Amino acid sequence: MKNLSKAGHWIGVDLGGTWVRVVLSDEKGNFVERIGEKVDKSNAEAISKQIARIVRFLCSKHDFQVKAVKGVGIAATGPLIQVEGVLIKPTNIPFDLVPLTKPVIEELGISACLINDCAGAALGENMFGAARGLENFVFITIGTGIGCGAIVNGTVLLGKDGNGHEVGHFVIDAGGKLICGCGKPGHWEGYCSGRNIPNYVRMRIKETPQEAVKQSLLLKRVGGDLSKLAAADLFASAKERDSFSLKLVNELGVLNAIGFANVISAYDPSLITVGGTVTLKNKRMILSPIRKHVGEYTVNRVPRIVITPLGDDVGLYGAVATAIKYLS
Ligand SMILES: [Zn+2]
Repeated sequence: MKNLSKAGHWIGVDLGGTWVRVVLSDEKGNFVERIGEKVDKSNAEAISKQIARIVRFLCSKHDFQVKAVKGVGIAATGPLIQVEGVLIKPTNIPFDLVPLTKPVIEELGISACLINDCAGAALGENMFGAARGLENFVFITIGTGIGCGAIVNGTVLLGKDGNGHEVGHFVIDAGGKLICGCGKPGHWEGYCSGRNIPNYVRMRIKETPQEAVKQSLLLKRVGGDLSKLAAADLFASAKERDSFSLKLVNELGVLNAIGFANVISAYDPSLITVGGTVTLKNKRMILSPIRKHVGEYTVNRVPRIVITPLGDDVGLYGAVATAIKYLS
């Protein structure tokens, strides 16, 4: 455990659909202590109470008053209305409206702010990670879903409610064979996200002569039951040099390259960092085909594309960076 510097205490909250992670940090991004819990979904107000309780616990454990915390940054999967500090019909949290910043401010008497988790991650990378000092930079996550945070000419792009650049819903297949979780056809996330890779694999199995598929390790891994297929099965088979799986990983890589090319055409970054569980567990298999093919689909000069050095914690760094940027 690191000691708290005198520079000041900040709290970062990474709120997902299943887990809420809270970190106590100094302003240099040194994490002093972190706590992760399952999100309390018992009612719409329970999450803000949960955050306040964890903040109190962290302060008392390190023997200082809650008032000594300079601010709480909450990075959450949207949709949200940033200025009101609320989530609106969030994915995986079953309430139409989830108030976050106001109850935290009222309960703790300290300031708090909210940001989309990908926009926050871009700020985190810009303040603490690989994008320090860069004016034009994009963070892309390929995890359960696909999203991005963009900093253009030194400004983080947010949009009217804070839900800007939903790049997971960029169309990458005009044929639209697969339907995205949002209900629309042909979206990047509908093919390449952890949640939807199994749909892509099942579709390609149907399209492929059965003789070629039968030899594949993929079917063996799930005992022939394709309903059990997860994204991890595809990458595990590919790592064992299964030719059908390698072919599909490369196809998904080309689709990712199209998504990246669209991002590059839109924001013209000088660096893209990539995170998300699918990426972090399969770094080379995700990045290699993107780097190889992205130039075929964008007219802009292709930037450096690297794995985020902040790893799984990019959301937490983003929450801390957001608090420092907006509440200092
Ligand atoms: Zn979609």
